[in-house]
Amino acid sequence: MQSGALVPAMTGFLLLAAAQLHAAQPLVYERFENTTAGRACGGLGFTSEVIGFGGLARDNRAAAVLDGKPGTCVDYGPTVHVPTEDFTIEAFVKPASVARYQAIAAKWNEDGDQRSWALVVLPGGGLRFDVSPDGRFHADNLLATPAEVLEPGRWYHIAAVCQGATSRLYVNHRLVASKQRPSPGVFAGNANLKIGAADRYATEGPRPFVGSLDEVRLVPAALGPEQFLRTRQPLPEVKVPGPPARYFFPFVATSQQEALRWQSEARARLMALVEAQEPRISLPEAPLDVITAEPQDRGAYVLWNVSFQGNSRKPLRYPGLLAVPKAPGPHPALLALHGHGGSAPAVFDPKGLYHGFADRFAQGGYVVLAPSFPHKPYAAMMLWDLFRAVDLLQSRPEVDPQRIGVAGLSMGGEWSMWIAACDQRLKAAVVSGWMCTTEGVFAVPNCKCWRLPGLVELMDICEVHLVIAPRPVLFESALRDNCFPIGYTKQGFARIRAGYKIFGHEDAVAQDIWDAGHEWHGEKAYPFMDRILGGSAARAAAGGQPGYSAPAPK
Ligand SMILES: [Zn+2]
Repeated sequence: MQSGALVPAMTGFLLLAAAQLHAAQPLVYERFENTTAGRACGGLGFTSEVIGFGGLARDNRAAAVLDGKPGTCVDYGPTVHVPTEDFTIEAFVKPASVARYQAIAAKWNEDGDQRSWALVVLPGGGLRFDVSPDGRFHADNLLATPAEVLEPGRWYHIAAVCQGATSRLYVNHRLVASKQRPSPGVFAGNANLKIGAADRYATEGPRPFVGSLDEVRLVPAALGPEQFLRTRQPLPEVKVPGPPARYFFPFVATSQQEALRWQSEARARLMALVEAQEPRISLPEAPLDVITAEPQDRGAYVLWNVSFQGNSRKPLRYPGLLAVPKAPGPHPALLALHGHGGSAPAVFDPKGLYHGFADRFAQGGYVVLAPSFPHKPYAAMMLWDLFRAVDLLQSRPEVDPQRIGVAGLSMGGEWSMWIAACDQRLKAAVVSGWMCTTEGVFAVPNCKCWRLPGLVELMDICEVHLVIAPRPVLFESALRDNCFPIGYTKQGFARIRAGYKIFGHEDAVAQDIWDAGHEWHGEKAYPFMDRILGGSAARAAAGGQPGYSAPAPK
């Protein structure tokens, strides 16, 4: 290289370095030294109980205390914009509780699509970092950790870094989550930049933070851990829940014979894990004692309020709805299962995320039982009651006991997996909004009720579906399902299909992928069930009768 060319090149380099240095000046640096740089609102106070770990590398006498009431925050108004595609928001954070959404800092308002970015503590102790390029919500722009990363009452350093189209989350300087977004860019928008609150986030505002915050810094550059705020002593390592290094009983069969051997042992092991949490009560000890009452005429079928004795020596009844076609039987039957916060009426309701799938099957000539089940510490603890629900269907004279299937959404999808795997009376299953790899379930702050003790270590969660083989299963995996990201559900399905191939029935499994969120679809599910069980749900009218509203469970 000639020396003449070197000088302009070096000058350019120095200018660039100076520009980067300038760009790294914080846009916001809230040190909370008994005062705030932005406008302090509501019940914002100060404490001398500052960051542990020997304190900061620099002088630090006070931290902010936020009371968690609406209105408490530091408000910077709408004018602070990140001027580059790269930025870092970091803070020392001590949540007093991890029971709800709490914004650490956000320039985010869903009213009028004014979303820029948000760093939020999630219910259950996970973290979420959103960056929007255009003010709108896109699930692809959301980065989250599993639940249980943060515990209440402890100090953490948290950093969210946006570098081009990459989002990263760090806790105590350790990378805990990262992802590629579809495109770079940060919307400027009119949302107020707030510390300790958000204008409106996840349908509500102001999402007040409760606990202590200190050293909240927004820098228009993608910092690395070596540039984050430091403490005198090293920060403790955080534990992030995730898949085990190695599974105890994975599916590794290479022949049908091996696969069948694995399957019967896997089923026994799964049931033993449930039994350890919830002993099974036999039917002679606690008879089903089915009570039906208050029939409603629903056109093609009669809908009964039903209840039955649960898996308990004490009196314990579960309510539900039982649809019986008016046409002469015997009919195929379907166990229809709701998810978190759902109930029997919800799966009959054409409005809402279940799209009335229980009604649709009943219109299509199925006897449908939809129980209302409670949320237990572990979803799998409902297994013995799910057996009872199948017992109930089998006990009905209108039901052909050789043609019973199960379908459910979300936790109902998980229950469908469990009961289809463990109860071979079920001839087909639709698992909607649940099937995923273990890595994928951990990638999102899902309710931890899926983590039956011993299950996570046993096998990848998607492999539990291989215990159903060779009976047919249809998986519904929506493209924008925030609970079970599509990449992981595609991986899970590929593994299940490969496993079914070893069982000699590769074509018995299918995956319905369509553009929607966490909800029921049905487009493939109705013809799938009809084909196996001999119903006509695919041809039935969708949506039930006009003006129908299901009765509340008793
Ligand atoms: Zn749960």
